[in-house]
Amino acid sequence: MSISTNLNQIKVSLPEHVTLVAVSKTKPNEAIVEAYETGQRIFGENKVQELTDKYETLPKDIEWHMIGHLQSNKVKYIAPFVNLIHGVDSYKLLKEINKRALQNNRIIDCLLQIHIAQEQTKFGFSEEEIIELLTSDKFKELKNINIIGLMGMATFTEDTIQVKQEFNSLKHLYDKISSSYLPISTLSMGMSGDYQLAIECGSNMVRVGSSIFGERNYP
Ligand SMILES: *Cc1c(COP(=O)(O)O)cnc(C)c1O
Repeated sequence: MSISTNLNQIKVSLPEHVTLVAVSKTKPNEAIVEAYETGQRIFGENKVQELTDKYETLPKDIEWHMIGHLQSNKVKYIAPFVNLIHGVDSYKLLKEINKRALQNNRIIDCLLQIHIAQEQTKFGFSEEEIIELLTSDKFKELKNINIIGLMGMATFTEDTIQVKQEFNSLKHLYDKISSSYLPISTLSMGMSGDYQLAIECGSNMVRVGSSIFGERNYP
């Protein structure tokens, strides 16, 4: 199946309120151009170097999302152009994004990553940590970041009951935060294997890679 066929099939299946981030990591520019030509404008990458290389060579009306784990010392490379940073998982990182956004005269949209999976390898805040952050004075001082929502990754498992529980817990936290702490509007959850389930559980932004571009080959 071609990229454009895959993409069109996914797009027609998505409810209107759900934003599709086409995850193009490891894929060449030609693949992104093929997706771009079907009208896709939002692409997600998880490596800073690859993201900046692609930003420099591809059309300027692409919205680039950083979806991977971001190290503070690399924020400066993407701060001039990134549209949304999904995986903000510490105050230290948020503070650095704020600093680099200010230097670039920008306000950068961010999602706070919540640890919902049972796997220890995944990053993110706990519920207690995020509420502590959102109610702190140090958070209110960060004027050049805009927290527009939450992001989470479920455990990598075939057990849909578990995945559903994890998505539901993130949706519950999202509702709690948006009603009591911060007016957020974006819930980024769901990948190729579980985005339909994520949408059923309240996701309004899905990050889909292999179902569009095919399996990735890692060297
Ligand atoms: C790679 C990646 C995706 C996309 O994964 P697929 O299973 O290929 O759809 C989504 N989110 C994050 C954070 C990723 O790193």
